[in-house]
Amino acid sequence: MEEKTPVTVAAGDGIGPEIMDATLRILEAAGARIEIEKIDIGEKVYLSGNTAGIAPEAWESLRRTRVFLKSPITTPQGGGYKSLNVTVRKTLGLYANVRPCVSYHPFVDTKHPVMDMVIVRENEEDLYAGIEHRQTREVYQCLKLITRPGCEKIVRYAFEYARLNNRKKVTCFTKDNIMKMTDGLFHKVFDEIAAEYPQIENEHWIVDIGAAKLADTPEKFDVVVMPNLYGDILSDVAAQITGSVGLAGSANIGEHVAMFEAIHGSAPDIAGKNIANPSGLLHGAIMMLVHIGQPEIAGKVHNAWLRTVEDGVHTADIFKEGLSKELTGTDGFADAVIERLGQYPERLKRVEYSQGDEKILTSYVPSPHDTEIRKDTVGVDVFLEWKGGSPEELGKRLESANGRGVQLQMITNRGVKVYPGGMPETFCTDHWRCRFMTDGSNPTIGTSEIIGLLKRIDGLGLEFIKTENLCTFDGQPGYSLGQGQ
Ligand code: NAD
Repeated sequence: MEEKTPVTVAAGDGIGPEIMDATLRILEAAGARIEIEKIDIGEKVYLSGNTAGIAPEAWESLRRTRVFLKSPITTPQGGGYKSLNVTVRKTLGLYANVRPCVSYHPFVDTKHPVMDMVIVRENEEDLYAGIEHRQTREVYQCLKLITRPGCEKIVRYAFEYARLNNRKKVTCFTKDNIMKMTDGLFHKVFDEIAAEYPQIENEHWIVDIGAAKLADTPEKFDVVVMPNLYGDILSDVAAQITGSVGLAGSANIGEHVAMFEAIHGSAPDIAGKNIANPSGLLHGAIMMLVHIGQPEIAGKVHNAWLRTVEDGVHTADIFKEGLSKELTGTDGFADAVIERLGQYPERLKRVEYSQGDEKILTSYVPSPHDTEIRKDTVGVDVFLEWKGGSPEELGKRLESANGRGVQLQMITNRGVKVYPGGMPETFCTDHWRCRFMTDGSNPTIGTSEIIGLLKRIDGLGLEFIKTENLCTFDGQPGYSLGQGQ
């Protein structure tokens, strides 16, 4: 007998225990070779005083089994409780969120009958780094971090996923017409890696028009890869337009650990009533079976599920008079899937998973770009909080801080150049970015020039709130220009 794969399982909150029970019953009946280790997460753990919602012994299980099947949890209202999902994803380095969005026309009502796309969302970076500051009385900031390793990992994952699943096209969405450095890097890495997969079509859309196309003609998309925020929003849009957000599962893949779940929440409004649809979690579990090398069981469960939906055995959330044949509950739906194990859908496309799906490349090999890059500091942006008067006044005052290697080049307010030569119409807040560059006495500046400058600015009675070094990388500026510069 083949060995069983240990899997950490959390039943979660709300409808979690019911849908987990249904899912595990189906997996067992299908002959899944898994050994379950149960852990507690969520509301109970939060309310016991653990603000992370997960106990130390649960981490131990996760790090040992490396496979996590998770029901939704309830995050208690009120401050102080951290999102468990974000904590688990980031702590365990689950960088890829993979969400297949498929419509089941004509058995589940949808405006998009031929939709079969997979969204691959970057899961750790972008605005989700959670580094936010209130810098001045008027201005708040959230840092958007995009890294080359992060882009390479997620883009390569998307192409490997496409290759192994016989997908024809990978589309990338960014906003690199505006965010030329951060989203620009994501797009550049996409182009570099796409070139290694000539057999797979590739395209890039600016996210605004891309999102409009995705919502209007989803049948034109296949695999879509995106930075975190766009992926978070658009994967919900894509799941919803298949007909029901309640049907989709998702995989969170890392180099060491992977987590599988439904995309919906704990639905406290219907908890304990045996009416929840277990399909979202079941789809997560199907992805898990592929990941742990049991594609034949994954296919068996998926085809039985398709047949059940096709036979019109529906839970209340997708039940539609005239379309559905039998209204069933959580348990009854699981029984119906179990009865159909070994059967295939007659009209919906049957599913076949192959060996090797689980071998999607997940270990990061740094590209040669990372090494040997020459970095020179050529200036510094000094950010000030100031509510004194006009940009002209500030500019004249700051010019007296020039000297000893640096000189004021420009001042911007919310990114728009206001000195020298600003427009009186530009609205200004109390947050000023003052760009000082080397004065030409030396090609570069060092820490002592920056500290000297800050001392002189302080001496002028101006309050600096942060600095940002301006560097060139192999001679190329690593900073954007001011708008209007
Ligand atoms: P929700 O997804 O739980 O529910 C939204 C609506 O969809 C509700 O009307 C619910 O009854 C229905 N619904 C959801 N899943 C269903 C299913 N399987 N079958 C039938 N109907 C279903 O979203 P919410 O109400 O915004 O959030 C409830 C709780 O879930 C919150 O505490 C939230 O923090 C948490 N949540 C957890 C996760 C997670 O653990 N992955 C994800 C999202 C929300």
